[in-house]
Parts: sequence; C-alpha cells; structure tokens
Amino acid sequence: MTTTDKVMIFDTTLRDGEQSAGIGLTTAEKLDIARQLDRLGVDIIEAGFAASSPGDFQAVRAIAAEVRRPIIASLARCVPGDIDAAWEALKDAERPRIHVFISSSDVHIMELLRKNPEEVMEQAVASVERAKGYCDDIEFSPMDATRTDLDYLYKLVESSIDAGATTVNIPDTVGYAVPKEFAERIRNIRQNVPNIGQAALSVHCHNDLGNAAPNSIAAVMEGARQVEGCINGLGERAGNASLEEVIMTIETRKDLLGVHTDIDTTQIYRTSRLVSDITGFPVQPNKAIVGANAFRHASGIHQDGVLKQRATFEIMEPQAVGWPSSALVLGKLSGRAGLRARLEELGFQLTPDQLNEAFDAFKDLADRKREVADADLEALMADQRRARSEPSIYNLDHVQVSCGSHEIPTATVVITGPDGSVTDAATGTGPVDAVYQAINRVIEVPNKLTEFRVDAVTEGIDAIGDVTIRIDRNGQSYVGRGSDTDIIVASAKAYMNALNRLLIMERAHADA
Ligand SMILES: [Zn+2]
Repeated sequence: MTTTDKVMIFDTTLRDGEQSAGIGLTTAEKLDIARQLDRLGVDIIEAGFAASSPGDFQAVRAIAAEVRRPIIASLARCVPGDIDAAWEALKDAERPRIHVFISSSDVHIMELLRKNPEEVMEQAVASVERAKGYCDDIEFSPMDATRTDLDYLYKLVESSIDAGATTVNIPDTVGYAVPKEFAERIRNIRQNVPNIGQAALSVHCHNDLGNAAPNSIAAVMEGARQVEGCINGLGERAGNASLEEVIMTIETRKDLLGVHTDIDTTQIYRTSRLVSDITGFPVQPNKAIVGANAFRHASGIHQDGVLKQRATFEIMEPQAVGWPSSALVLGKLSGRAGLRARLEELGFQLTPDQLNEAFDAFKDLADRKREVADADLEALMADQRRARSEPSIYNLDHVQVSCGSHEIPTATVVITGPDGSVTDAATGTGPVDAVYQAINRVIEVPNKLTEFRVDAVTEGIDAIGDVTIRIDRNGQSYVGRGSDTDIIVASAKAYMNALNRLLIMERAHADA
C-alpha cells in the first residue's frame, strides 16, 4: 500500500454546511464563498446537491462554470434522476466530480430504505457505473459507515471501486465514532479491501460528540488522504469537522503526522469571516483558530511569557492563519492610500471603483466615529459586499424614527423598488417594530421574524451595531444582516437584506 503525503481538502460548506438549520444562501452568495474557497486553495468544492432543489442546481451550475481550478462536486443519491441532475449541473466544470451516496448500516438499510443489503449493493454498483458514464472522477460514500457491519462495508467499498469509484469516503454520518475506534476502522478498510489502493480514501466526520476534527486527524494518521468538512464547523446538526482545525493540525503537527495540504493558510481568517457574515452564523469567541480569543492571552503569566518569547504559550502565529497583524487604527484624517493598505492587509483586494466606494463609506464612518478599527472596516466591507453581490429589488433610501418615553414610536421610510420611489409611515411597539411595519406597508411579503440579534462590532458607545435577523416564510428561513453606527438603521438594513434575499430566492425557484 502506498500513499502520498498530501491530504486533499474537500470543502462541503456549500452542501452539508448549507443544510444547517436556518441557512439559505442565494447563488450569488454561494459564488462569493466558492471564490474565497478557491483562494484558500481547497482541492474540492462540493457546491451542492443538484437534485435537491432548483436553487441548488442553479448554484452548482454557476460555480462549475466559473470556478475552474478546484474539482467541483455535486452530491447525488444512488438513483438515476439524481445522478443525471448532478451531471447536468456539472457538465461545464473544468474538473467535475459526481459524489454518490447510499445507506449502508443495518438500521439505515432496513428502516430508511426498507431494502436488503444485496439490493443496496446492486444499487450502489449500478449508480457508480451510471455516474462513470458521465465523468471519470466519481466519489462513493456508504452513509452511516461507522455503524455498518465491517465485512459488508469491505464488500461494498470493493464493489464500488470495481465499478469505477476513484474516491471512497467513509462518513461518520451521526457523529458516533471516537478517534481510536475510527482510526481502527480506517486501518481495517485499508487492510481488508484488496483494491483500496486504486481509490483515494476519504473521511467525513460529524461533530455530535465534538470528535469530528480529532476523528479526521486519527484517520489521516491511518492513511486517509482526503478530509471533508466545513469552514467554521458548519453542517447538519452539530456540524462537520471544522476545516480550519483539520488544516492547522496538519500544518502545526507536521512533525508527528508527516503530511501536508496545499492550503494557503493565510486565507483562513478571511474565509471564516466571509462564511460567518454570509450565513449569519457567528463564530464563538473561544473557537479554535478563528475565534476572537483564539490568540488572545489573558492571564498575566501567559502575557509575560508571550512578550518574552512567543513560543512559550503560542503554538502557531496568528499571521499564519491571516489574522490582521497590527493594531493600527484609522481615523478621520487617514487618506485613501492608508485605507487601501489597511484593507489589503485584511485581505480585501479592491478595484479602483470599489476603493472609491469604500473610501466614501469610510469617511462617512470616520465622521461619526473617532477611531475606525479593523472590525469596523470588516463590517463596512461586508455591507458593500452585500450591496454588490445581491442585486436588490428594493432599496432603502431613507429611514426616520421618532420615539421616546411619551411618544408612540413612529417610522417613515422611503423605498425605491420596481415601481419607483414610495414613502410610507407606520407606528409600532418600539422603534424597530415601527420601521419594520413601515417597510411591510411598502413591500407586502408576509413573513415571521424568528431571530433578531444586535452585536457591537467594537467596544465603546460609538461602536458599529451589526444586526442579524432571520425571517421565515413557507418553511424556508432567510437571514438578513446590516450594520451602522445607528442600530435602528442597521436593523432596517438587515430587514431589507432579508426581504430582498427572500424575493430573489423565491423568484429563482419560480423560474426553475
Ligand atoms: Zn454530512
């Protein structure tokens, strides 16, 4: 058995991650994430599950057409319609991959599929063969592999490789395995499947018990050479293996693992922030690698140590994962060149037009806020990205609120839409409610507000407020975000963002 020392990184943020409860992304947003994953250097992007919805199909097709370096994969069940849809969406890709999966554990086969193991085996082989008729690069996943009878698993893996699978993926679908046990399973597969050397061995671990990244690393130590996961550990339920954790473990413990990835680790921070911003899923402060406190040394002894010699308490440098290095703060008098330099350090490459736009917004912000920190710039860039990548149907031109202890909160909004500019006003239980009621009078789309969150981007009374909301309509959830030093304005922007996204996605569905 030979293995290379490169571990392929398979990102499924746009498929398994998007399946997370409460995430609904537009094609434009998925493209933004895919472009950043390309910069990060992932080997494979699973762009979606083409047969699952018209929106997924459209996104896979758009990413396949535009993002050329990485392999682009679409998931498919072992049924002809799914495989055909996957290919239909992938056929323009430079390097297409069809990823077929079928349940392999007894409990899944009997209770979910209501079949017998022989039928499942035949269906798997027929599906790999059908996919192979479309392209060479085929991945096969026996779902719930960690609860599957080993002898059956060997046969299933062997048959799928005989049928043409070039990658075999072992998913811990329910997050049940622990590292030692999972490593043994991988070793057993490598020792007992005669043709295993003809395919890449992959793992896909879920985090229900918090073992997703450790299980993935344990598998790498036993010869797995592809790891699947999501940025920020997104994914079904408790999520998938957090890719930044897997990547930095491989990078930081080269001495022990003896393998590498082709990831540009300095893009990790940017990727994490972009995914968090677009999905509306915040990163917990103590999250490994990308949490706000990941490189913060709070105790006196640790601070003293790090000042004397970083290696005393720091196993990796924050710059290695792209953390902005200096604490330089911009202010009112900072010029265009200073802003550009700072933005470039934060990982934003802007066209001259985008820089002009950013500079105007920066000046506007610096007028209201004495010091503009990196976090403010990121919020500002996120606002601009939303304005750019989400062609909005309605724009909020003006919002004005009057409220106070003896007043009925009243809001006036001016909104430009397909029928021109409309002014309307409404009252509410509070200022935000009044604004939302006024917007509802103009944009008549019944929905339910299910989440409303305000975060201060930096410390201080003049901080930018970052508002994240979720609205539900017809069983689908839509996130909206907006930021401003005025939280009422930020709330209005977030609601407009969610409504625009809802309308765009509903139209995409109606068109498809
Ligand atoms: Zn999964």
